[in-house]
Amino acid sequence: MTANSQTSAQTPIVSKWDDAVAASLSEPELLLYRSNLLGSDLRVTNFGGGNTSAKVTMRDHLTGEDVQVLWVKGSGGDLGSIKLDGFSTLYMDKLNALKKRYRGLEHEDEMVDYLPHCTFNLNPRAASIDTPLHAYIPKAHVDHMHPDAIIAIAACADSKRLTEVIFGGQLGWLPWQRPGYDLGLKLEALATSQPQLKGIILEGHGLFTWGDTAKSCYEITLEMIRLAEQWLGENVKQPVFGGVKTITLPAEQRAAIAAQLMPALRGRISAGERKLGDFNDSDAVLQFVASNDLAALAALGTSCPDHFLRTKIRPLVLDFDPAKPDVDALLAGLDKALEDYRADYTAYYERCKRANSPAVRDANPVIYLIPGVGMLSFAKDKATARIAGEFYINAINVMRGANGVDKYVGLPEQEAFDIEYWLLEEAKLQRMPKPKSLAGRVALVTGGAGGIGQAVARQLLQEGACVMLTDIDAGALAEAHANLVKVAGKDNVATVQGNITSEKEVEAVLSATALRFGGLDILVSNAGIASAAPLEDTTLEIWQRNQDILVTGYFLVGRGAFRLMKQQKIGGSMVFVASKNGLVASAGASAYCTAKAAEIHLARCIALEGAAVGVRVNVVNPDAVIRGSRIWDGKWKEERAASNKIDSDNIEEFYRQRSMLKLSVLPEDIAEAVYFLASDKSGKSTGNVLNVDAGNAAAFTR
Ligand SMILES: [Zn+2]
Repeated sequence: MTANSQTSAQTPIVSKWDDAVAASLSEPELLLYRSNLLGSDLRVTNFGGGNTSAKVTMRDHLTGEDVQVLWVKGSGGDLGSIKLDGFSTLYMDKLNALKKRYRGLEHEDEMVDYLPHCTFNLNPRAASIDTPLHAYIPKAHVDHMHPDAIIAIAACADSKRLTEVIFGGQLGWLPWQRPGYDLGLKLEALATSQPQLKGIILEGHGLFTWGDTAKSCYEITLEMIRLAEQWLGENVKQPVFGGVKTITLPAEQRAAIAAQLMPALRGRISAGERKLGDFNDSDAVLQFVASNDLAALAALGTSCPDHFLRTKIRPLVLDFDPAKPDVDALLAGLDKALEDYRADYTAYYERCKRANSPAVRDANPVIYLIPGVGMLSFAKDKATARIAGEFYINAINVMRGANGVDKYVGLPEQEAFDIEYWLLEEAKLQRMPKPKSLAGRVALVTGGAGGIGQAVARQLLQEGACVMLTDIDAGALAEAHANLVKVAGKDNVATVQGNITSEKEVEAVLSATALRFGGLDILVSNAGIASAAPLEDTTLEIWQRNQDILVTGYFLVGRGAFRLMKQQKIGGSMVFVASKNGLVASAGASAYCTAKAAEIHLARCIALEGAAVGVRVNVVNPDAVIRGSRIWDGKWKEERAASNKIDSDNIEEFYRQRSMLKLSVLPEDIAEAVYFLASDKSGKSTGNVLNVDAGNAAAFTR
């Protein structure tokens, strides 16, 4: 999925139904097939939005008799990737019996507690709060989608009349109402009283459609969206977003500004919990942020409940003139802009809160719009930040559609509040698992494609961090990326090729990290080489190469990370991967040992300056980590074997026997130590050296 797939210039939505595939499927499988098809196109429904259902006759395990069962998408997940276990199953006769328990709108939330009692076949998938919207529509197959084109019509001031005009009586219309039991009864009443309807538009929300078969339901859904898209395209009355107000900067400049802005913002909004950022400059965003109507439309807030639950009711529009780009002024204005936003949000909470409302949540914006540059979004994890941005693109598409043909209206503030602070939503938040120890943290690992680099990245990812890997070897980096995506998914791991001995390339690596994740919390400086030669044979070139990578490289990356962390003002942790040889002189490796000693001392110097800004710096000293190492693959292995007078095939055993504990040191052992020093578990340690060498008396620190 790319953000660009959400822009307006599109091929029409076409049916992907394949009769040959469908022929062999059972009714639940047909529901799954239809759901996956619907969820595969973001124009049909937004990520995680919408639900589908089928009423299926099934054999009751208890009585052996045939009963009607509602299969309906359960709580959580996305239609595009849902599997059969993502659906909840409920007895229709029990759902119908619930009508007798309903005490009216004031009490509709209590109906949610009855749903688990209607479960068919002990299905553990929790029924969603949209279940009653499907249960009572007197049709076998029901789709509920959030298509941008339909919501555009649903969010027009003249939505009811436009529904008539566009769909010619095929779709009914219901005024805005928060989804719940009562809306389920209203859908039933309208569908029953007007049996010719193929579906219903819900004001400010989305679309319901139905059919007698899975296929007809699917095709009616697509047909209604196509009609809406076509009509919106043919009836544009006014320039998009009031016309163009400002220029759009070139892509490279947009990215550079975003990379500067993101750490500054992140530091200011991460007081409660650390946030991760996402930058989006897709066509839809750029058109909106450069328009005359930007400020006015952004202030109206989003419409569909799904949109503002993800994006907050309003974005923050930053004051920036791309025609005279002044990034320093932009940064200088951040405190005031955020302060105003938070005051505005708190006032909204105070205006709308009810006696039993949950406490006010984080008052910082989620979405940031910058004229000529694009959109930033921040959330507790990378996927949530990216998806929030994509939801705001849904909202932009809705505003563009609605304002082109009529006048866009946001949801009334109180209604938005009642959804945002709905007790059922609060209960969902309370059920979220405890975050992992490195959740919200961004780590940069140099030498990321090597054995230790990958093991470190893997462990940091498993502990919840986002990781940027950098390495000079692009091929190895791509391979490492493929390995790690399997562990942590595409959102949380990224790579950037770079040479740490180049000042310019180091800056580019740090910039790419800020742009990709929003900032930096953890630096694992791990890039390495090794060389061995007697002093007399040590050429200036060998000497210089060790100095360049192990000293100058660590200095450049350390200095860059220090600046970034200092700008963020939320501290940080650096871990230098050095070597036992930094503490213990070793014959025949003077260039390497000296450079490693300098590296350790550099870490101590940065620790000294870093303390004042909460940046900790510690060192891990591995020894003889042979497995997975690219250093030990080549000449170094031969050199060490020769110098120790052993066969290179026996080198692992040689080092094991040499250690005090008679153990091999593995990349995972180094990763464990790095994780400890990177995390808050070592929050009171800085300037330390931790040997991971299976015991070597000469390396005892003192
Ligand atoms: Zn909905």
